[in-house]
Amino acid sequence: MPPSLTPLGFPRAGNRFPGRPALVTVVAGSTLIPMTKRLWIETVGCQMNVLDSELVVAALRRQGWEMAPAADAADAVFYNTCSVRQHAEDKIYSALGRIRSVKAKRPDVVVGVLGCMAQKDQELIRKRAPWVDLVVGPGQLHQVPSLVDDVLAGGGPRIEVSLDRKAGSRDAIARSFESYDPDRDPAMRPTPFQAFIRTQTGCDKFCAFCVVPHVRGPEQARAPDTILAEARKLVAEGCREITLIGQTVNSYKWTDGGRTTRLADLLALLDGVDGLDRIKFVTNYPRDMTDDLIAAVRDLPKVCHYLHVPAQHGSDDVLTRMKRGYTIGEYMEMYGRIRAAIPHAAVTSDFIVGFCGETDAEFQTTLDLVKTVGFKNSFIFKYSPRPGTKAFDRLPDDVPEDVKKERNRVLLEAQEEASLAGNRRFVGTQEQVLVEGLSTRDEKRAVDPGPDGVAQLTGRTMCDRIIVFDAPTRLIGRLVDIDILAAGAWSLSGVVADGLADAVPLDTLDYSGAASGDAAPLYDISLPQPKPQAATSEPPRG
Ligand code: SF4
Repeated sequence: MPPSLTPLGFPRAGNRFPGRPALVTVVAGSTLIPMTKRLWIETVGCQMNVLDSELVVAALRRQGWEMAPAADAADAVFYNTCSVRQHAEDKIYSALGRIRSVKAKRPDVVVGVLGCMAQKDQELIRKRAPWVDLVVGPGQLHQVPSLVDDVLAGGGPRIEVSLDRKAGSRDAIARSFESYDPDRDPAMRPTPFQAFIRTQTGCDKFCAFCVVPHVRGPEQARAPDTILAEARKLVAEGCREITLIGQTVNSYKWTDGGRTTRLADLLALLDGVDGLDRIKFVTNYPRDMTDDLIAAVRDLPKVCHYLHVPAQHGSDDVLTRMKRGYTIGEYMEMYGRIRAAIPHAAVTSDFIVGFCGETDAEFQTTLDLVKTVGFKNSFIFKYSPRPGTKAFDRLPDDVPEDVKKERNRVLLEAQEEASLAGNRRFVGTQEQVLVEGLSTRDEKRAVDPGPDGVAQLTGRTMCDRIIVFDAPTRLIGRLVDIDILAAGAWSLSGVVADGLADAVPLDTLDYSGAASGDAAPLYDISLPQPKPQAATSEPPRG
């Protein structure tokens, strides 16, 4: 076989931006000659982890690393992990088992376990998988590039984690959890026109079931100026929507020189950023949903009317056992204030079924809550005991697995009905969406219709509802009005309003930047944009 240039790209699944040229790797004979060191990262868990993966990959790319097409073709393989449920940890130990044979064939491959599980399990990870080179907690992610260099230089395995929550003063523990917020690299975001910005790390609420305060450390806010500067930089790079993320984002508080900035103030500052179209924030703690914050959501034009406020359960007794710090009456009072101020707001929740001692009657209260409130959607989880938490230490995990499963199914079914009823109210209306990319269907089909070709696209409304519609791929990254024709439980479908030519003038929209002379593309879809492997987009636990 003669030497040739062969394009090797990233797996099409997960690439929502058709038309990108793939990266090129030189092929001589049948031997691949990698141009540079290549990395692979798998991310499990919430949006906090998606952001961390973006930042780790960007830091390594600045040192000359590129993305590999698969784990077994990489020089470094990272798993950015989650400890919120046992299932998430089991997935990582299975993946570590699979990478063992790659490491046996190529001992110089660096294998790293990053994030919450690294902080929680520490030495245990290397006991169970001695072929792991790096164990790096969420508070040490800034060290990953130098740690990889050390391992490659023959320095041997390293475990870098923060202090345990009981291992010293609050200040000392907080210092050991360093917030990881380096310069952003637009190429590494899941989409170039949407970005997460961290407002704070950690949590001090210590709900009985939750491992987050242990693995993410004490709550620590970032300065508003830093957040604002990051937002401005992202907008200058083409970002149109930011999502502020914190475990309990609405408890954000920064005091400096006698002046206190809370989330409502921060939203007002961000609302003034020119070029930014949309602001979201997750996850909210019910007790911190203050009137001034609700008023800010109502009054600031760029803030989306979407509020993720986990109730977790419908029973006061269970909420007490969970140490959530509110009654269901207080939750409903908070919910009533949101509805009174913003009647059409989309409110979403998390629920845990099968928590310690949950009776049929207690489960029924959660079911009743979901049936009566009309959450836009809910993330529903079976209780998973987490070592180190109060529930693990003090309460028996006594709801049988088959009962948990059945309650999970019943609650999902009720939520699906509620979501469908909520979505049906939008049929016949017109909503503006930010076009995010190919729909899941066309992403799986790996369609590449080119810049003018029509594909099935997906976008989100200001209320975080997903709408699918057929349109040219050049609309990706644009705000477009959609006439809604039909509703399902999880999405709506429709057509671009008033015809494409009216909604999006064609003479300003050449995305290639070549065919229309000076027309500047909003988003140059033709750039190679390797990105961290897709993860679930579950909001941080809160
Ligand atoms: S559930 Fe949320 S508020 Fe409670 S400890 Fe976990 S992160 Fe904190």
